[in-house]
Amino acid sequence: MRVVAATGNSHKITELRSLFGSFGVEVVSKREAGVTAPDPEETGVTFEENAIAKAQAVFACCGEATVADDSGLEVDALGGDPGIYSARFFEMSARGMPGGIFGAESDDEVNDEMPALFKQDGGVDAANNRLLLRCLKDVPPESRTARFVCAIAFIESGKEPLAIRGVCEGRIADRPSGTEGFGYDPLFIPDEYASEGLTFAQLTEADKNRISHRGRALALLAEKLRAR
Ligand code: IMP
Repeated sequence: MRVVAATGNSHKITELRSLFGSFGVEVVSKREAGVTAPDPEETGVTFEENAIAKAQAVFACCGEATVADDSGLEVDALGGDPGIYSARFFEMSARGMPGGIFGAESDDEVNDEMPALFKQDGGVDAANNRLLLRCLKDVPPESRTARFVCAIAFIESGKEPLAIRGVCEGRIADRPSGTEGFGYDPLFIPDEYASEGLTFAQLTEADKNRISHRGRALALLAEKLRAR
């Protein structure tokens, strides 16, 4: 049996291969399965809805068992933002994200600061990280709690779709550290490494996967599939 991964992200495909490999199941990318459909618009209001929509779009094209994920960072001091908008935090904020951005007094204040945050090195991930630090500028260490969330969806012919959530609790550092990983990794200190103050970006891939939201969701999915 093989499973199609509804993602183009090579980090995610590697993690999925290591999980499904233990079942003797081969994981292939969308491209390898000949699926050319673009990713659907992420219009869901939960990680689970978005993960299922991504899996359904691929399943509809190929009819093979399909796995997809949707993930993001919830920051308590921002009422759970950027959440499902994590990949597009900067872009959404520039367009006026619900809740107002970094407690700005006016649109002018936002419009003055945003270009400066973006016009620095590092592309979208770095701009998202700078914006997050800016939003938390006056938030003290004890209130910088956050969590990474990942929903994994699994669809196979003739069975109910599965959607499983994994969570990794932690806090947002006051400056970026480390060069591993991607996205918000340089700012996220998982609770398991709180005493050393290490961010995800300072961990090896194996150490991150052991405790990460995605690693946990995949482990729970493995349990469910074994029980099926
Ligand atoms: P998506 O799941 O591909 O829609 O993207 C989720 C976004 O959340 C990514 O672009 C990152 O910004 C962020 N994110 C999700 N998982 C991680 C992680 O493990 N490390 C760092 N950032 C992450």
